[in-house]
Amino acid sequence: VGASDAQRSDAQMRAHHPAGAQRLVGLDLGGTAIKAGAIARDGTVLEQRSVEPHFERGVSGVLDVLAQLARDLGAQAELGIGVPGLLVRESGWLIHSPNLPGFRDIAVKQELADRLGFDPARVHVENDANAAALGEQWLGAAKGIDDLLLLTLGTGIGGGLILGGELFAGRGMAGEIGHVVIDPTGPVCGCGARGCLEMFASARAATLRAKQAGLPAKAPGDLKQLTEIARERDGDERRLLLDIGRDLGRGIGPVVCLLDLGCFVFGGGFAAALEVMEPGIRAGVDERSYGDRGRKLALLGAQLGPQAGWIGAARLCL
Ligand SMILES: [Zn+2]
Repeated sequence: VGASDAQRSDAQMRAHHPAGAQRLVGLDLGGTAIKAGAIARDGTVLEQRSVEPHFERGVSGVLDVLAQLARDLGAQAELGIGVPGLLVRESGWLIHSPNLPGFRDIAVKQELADRLGFDPARVHVENDANAAALGEQWLGAAKGIDDLLLLTLGTGIGGGLILGGELFAGRGMAGEIGHVVIDPTGPVCGCGARGCLEMFASARAATLRAKQAGLPAKAPGDLKQLTEIARERDGDERRLLLDIGRDLGRGIGPVVCLLDLGCFVFGGGFAAALEVMEPGIRAGVDERSYGDRGRKLALLGAQLGPQAGWIGAARLCL
């Protein structure tokens, strides 16, 4: 769908759905864009937008942009927002976010509630991967599946765990599969541990591994080309992706042992390589779990793309 088509359909939608209480509004604050939209309770997307965060205006300026966007989308008393980083969910307090310049110790919930005149209890702040998992389970790849883990393969690896149809966050940080250690002798991760999954199988790690193997991927965008080559012929490219897949499986294996999940959904740019990595993933799971559960897993590509986050954030208002 082209931009103009999207705008046109947005205008049509607005005509039929005037701003009101039936609109659920969600925002997804990312390092390069704010994705946002309004959606009806039945899952009909009413309006969607992508807006520049304007980090040069400082944290307060970014919060102003978010509040204005929520107003523009017709939020009247309630709002959901996904943010990357370490979060205290109940209080909506963002402790630290490596991808958002200046965002450290920010009371996101309270700041937005103040700007909008909302009750803070009705501003729902969630980790971005958790929000994406909620979105995919509501309207995307995992529609109708009650138990799943979503992995976002980006700069790092994010995770969102859904159990019994509900988000399971533990004390706030459940689902962080990116920091499951798969090789204790591996490279030191940003979290301080050695050999975390995201050091082997994120888009950034894959780019680095391709470079080390002398394959054509100097930037994360080049992974697309590498994936295409791997799909076409059995060579070094395919072997690399199978190796990375095996590492993903080594991270997933312990999760299968613990929770016996049957479904894993893969999002983020590098998920485009899922099909090629799949046999590797299944082998890695079998290597690190009991029985032959690798081949029985549903390994699904995410379907909502960059929209999953705001859609899941909006669902927090249901
Ligand atoms: Zn780590």
